[in-house]
Amino acid sequence: MAEETIFSKIIRQEIDAPLLYQDELVTAFRDIAPKASSHILIVPNKLIPTINDVSADDEAALGRMITVAKQLAKEEGIEKNGYRLIINCNQHGGQEVYHIHMHLVGGEPLGPMLCI
Ligand code: 5GP
Repeated sequence: MAEETIFSKIIRQEIDAPLLYQDELVTAFRDIAPKASSHILIVPNKLIPTINDVSADDEAALGRMITVAKQLAKEEGIEKNGYRLIINCNQHGGQEVYHIHMHLVGGEPLGPMLCI
């Protein structure tokens, strides 16, 4: 059984973190330490520690993360200029929180930005 992270508490709204989006599969909220003027995290409600742990059963949630990213990019007004979606995996990928999350970053030119 994977250990819960702070993201589970945010998903359940047990701590004060405004949500930008939530449905039965995914939740989105702003990153606490934004690396660009728009920096949103989109997470599956189910605790999946890393991309290495996904299964076919998770495809609906993983697909929903993309459609929600598209919707939020539009709401942020960054869809035309563009943005980047990033999922880090494990140590070499720079993952810090072991509950899968997609970074939606934009609002300015991002450059190479290999680390987020
Ligand atoms: P990772 O490096 O795992 O891909 O990204 C983890 C992200 O979670 C970081 O960008 C970090 O700023 C963000 N983060 C860590 N703790 C919290 C928190 O308690 N609330 C929010 N909103 N973001 C967090």
